[in-house]
Amino acid sequence: MMNSETSAAPSPEAAPSGTVPGPVRNWAGNQTFRAGVLHRPASAEALAALVAGAGERRVRVLGSGHSFNRIADVDAPDDLLVSLGALAPLIEVDAAARTVRVGAGVRYAELARVLDTHGLALPTMASLPHISVAGSVATGTHGSGDAVGSLATQVRALELLTADGDVRVLSREADGERFAGAVVALGALGIVTALTLDVVPAFLVRQDVFTGLALDSLAAHFDAITGAAHSVSLFTDWKEPCFGQVWLKRTDLGAPDFPWAAPTTEPVHPVPGMDATACTPQLGAVGPWHERLPHFRPEFTPSNGAEIQSEYLVARSDAVAALRAVAGVRERIAPVLQISEVRTVAADDLWLSPAYGRGTVALHFTWVPDAERVRAACGALEAALAPFAPRPHWGKVSTVPARELRGRWERMDDFADLAREFDPRGRFANEVVRGVLGR
Ligand SMILES: Cc1cc2nc3c(=O)[nH]c(=O)nc-3n(C[C@H](O)[C@H](O)[C@H](O)COP(=O)(O)OP(=O)(O)OC[C@H]3O[C@@H](n4cnc5c(N)ncnc54)[C@H](O)[C@@H]3O)c2cc1C
Repeated sequence: MMNSETSAAPSPEAAPSGTVPGPVRNWAGNQTFRAGVLHRPASAEALAALVAGAGERRVRVLGSGHSFNRIADVDAPDDLLVSLGALAPLIEVDAAARTVRVGAGVRYAELARVLDTHGLALPTMASLPHISVAGSVATGTHGSGDAVGSLATQVRALELLTADGDVRVLSREADGERFAGAVVALGALGIVTALTLDVVPAFLVRQDVFTGLALDSLAAHFDAITGAAHSVSLFTDWKEPCFGQVWLKRTDLGAPDFPWAAPTTEPVHPVPGMDATACTPQLGAVGPWHERLPHFRPEFTPSNGAEIQSEYLVARSDAVAALRAVAGVRERIAPVLQISEVRTVAADDLWLSPAYGRGTVALHFTWVPDAERVRAACGALEAALAPFAPRPHWGKVSTVPARELRGRWERMDDFADLAREFDPRGRFANEVVRGVLGR
């Protein structure tokens, strides 16, 4: 995993407002963006002035820079790549309404800390709490849980600075279908300046890890295994058709009845052999939701060096066949793989969400940082998974051509219409966005 020094998406604490000279890189350091500088406006007014003064140049927002592909990039050095990290961090809790309004630059670790002090919680978090809320929502980022939707499903309203300088508010209540189109939007509709999220009462979670789950056992008991906790993650290095670790995060706090694998006797890191200090407490330790739902503690950068990530999301009904297909190419992917994680995500109605319209199983791969070998491994995987038409994670590496991606989201044409309405001149688009929109 990564070294925080390679980050060119500075944390709010680390960089002043103004402009940060390039080269601008993503957190993993595997992408150097085309932008000459990173703009860091210090106020909403400065942000609006930046957009108003952009003329015909393109504008993209870089969140915390944790995507592994060029989804956040601009087209040319003069285009505006903007970080909202220097804006005053906004976290407004409305405990009575069970909502929180957050500034787009806010990261989940900070949001979680504040919510917990109000006795409130998010129902799910990604494996890493360091990522920004707006950037995570924009790509359909998810945690795990049969009954739990992606992070984007928590969004109740969006405040969007559009190309004409207006701030438009879109809400689940008032805007129905259009709202469903605007939440997972890849930055293509405008700049999200704030989001209102649904929250739930704070809860406790017990975390246990089991070891040695055979693929055959998983195939035979898939629903029981992924249903064994609020959140279940299965880890394998695919050297064998076996899952070396199963992480169970239970909200009933009872000891899991998990006959398919053995409990671990000491804390573990998902990547075999790595120091578990960076990981959230295990061995049945009960703790607050935000200290158990992510795999990694906010105060550590989970790191053993560089990595590249890919993820393919398939219909839950195809999960076992898709896992068998991955097992069929495991000798080709294992040499390039640090670790693979399997998670579940509940269906949602957000047009560009990887979990749109179907209960979903996410097949994640953390690779070694060797772009060429990763490309070959992705090619082998994508060929094996082709019968299941997987939806690649918007923020991770894949080699599936844009024209093929288009057909994997039923509402893509509707999204293209929405993007045309919000941004007729394509000022918030980039190569990735134009590719999937077919423009
Ligand atoms: C170590 C690690 C662990 C991860 N774990 C998970 C995981 O558990 N689950 C998962 O699904 N993914 C995971 N990811 C992927 C990650 O969650 C996504 O790539 C996510 O988009 C990162 O958020 P970000 O703020 O860094 O976004 P960026 O990469 O900075 O941007 C992503 C997209 O959001 C847009 N965007 C950002 N802010 C705004 C804004 N204010 N307005 C409009 N558009 C905006 C950008 O333009 C870009 O298109 C992980 C990544 C890493 C590095």
